[in-house]
Amino acid sequence: MDKRDYYEVLGVDRNASETEIKKAYRKLARQYHPDMNPDNQEEAAEKFKEVHEAYEVLGDQEKRGRYDQFGHAAFDMGAGAGPGGAGYDFGNFGGFEDIFDVFFGGGGGFGSPFGGGQRGGPRRGPDLQMNIELSFKEAAFGVEREVTIQRWEDCGDCGGSGAAPGTEPVTCYKCGGTGQVRVTQRIAFGQFSTVTTCDNCKGTGKTIEKPCNTCHGKGKVRRPRKVNIQVPAGVDNGSALRLAGEGELGTQGGPPGDLIVRIRVRPHKVFKREKDNVVMEVPISFVQAALGDEIEIPTLDGNTKFRIPEGTQPNAVFHLRGKGIPHLQGYGRGDQILSIKVVIPTKLTEEQKEMLHKFDTTVRIDQYQTRKAFLKR
Ligand SMILES: [Zn+2]
Ligand SMILES: [Zn+2]
Repeated sequence: MDKRDYYEVLGVDRNASETEIKKAYRKLARQYHPDMNPDNQEEAAEKFKEVHEAYEVLGDQEKRGRYDQFGHAAFDMGAGAGPGGAGYDFGNFGGFEDIFDVFFGGGGGFGSPFGGGQRGGPRRGPDLQMNIELSFKEAAFGVEREVTIQRWEDCGDCGGSGAAPGTEPVTCYKCGGTGQVRVTQRIAFGQFSTVTTCDNCKGTGKTIEKPCNTCHGKGKVRRPRKVNIQVPAGVDNGSALRLAGEGELGTQGGPPGDLIVRIRVRPHKVFKREKDNVVMEVPISFVQAALGDEIEIPTLDGNTKFRIPEGTQPNAVFHLRGKGIPHLQGYGRGDQILSIKVVIPTKLTEEQKEMLHKFDTTVRIDQYQTRKAFLKR
């Protein structure tokens, strides 16, 4: 069977750039995808295979070079090692959705779904996560923190290849560098093939004969990295910050992921937070409640004087405007809310009791009556 010229198949010039080839492939793969051709799936599948095979060669610089030199003969030796050997088999309809997703899936950059990791296209690095703990005050006013995170970076000793210095990774013998192998199974009605990731190279298309000592062949090492975190004023327990680009590095030129910093705020001994208000209980004696008093109370900005008004009732609430937590988004601050708790003495001397009795008889009759009526109910 005569094979068509790969450039002709993709409809590109012999001098076409890598981008042009990729573009042409993408367009044709879409056009001939059997899902897009429900009326003549078989013919479309044939075309699709041809297009894919052409791209497997022209989309790979090294293979393209060999093809330019030797034509189809470059790949005729060794069954299974050529580009046709790992082609997609449309007898396996189960795999359809999978490749469909890769073709039209969300913006992750275009990569050959057949090529394994090696030609996987640019991919964004994963996000990293970490927790930091702040004091109540740090959360209220913001703080700068320097933290150390570990992330994977290219191994300096092997340049990220994973092969010992002075050696190079070699093309995988099992998949011929495609990263995928076809497994054919006999079943009752014939045979059916699936394409799976090559177990010899784990889909990378390359194997390492002598691994680099530093990274043990991974090509990457975990390195500590200092990151400066500017925590804005007003964050709360459970808030999270996203530091763009501080996550794991991307692959194939893809952008790095983000660093997600989750915030935990240590509880304060006296203050409680309710939205952007700082709530605080203020215990006072019943005499202070009755007569009023000037007391000193703590705030986020230091101690301040507060005047308890004469005749303050139990559970009275006072707002200190603008003494609360700064609003995370926007200007201004919440309030500090004083929740008054009147403390009734429990251990009175006989003499004190006598004084209170005396006091009681001096209370005006109408007040006395009101109280008696209330107690009766
Ligand atoms: Zn392989
Ligand atoms: Zn290394």
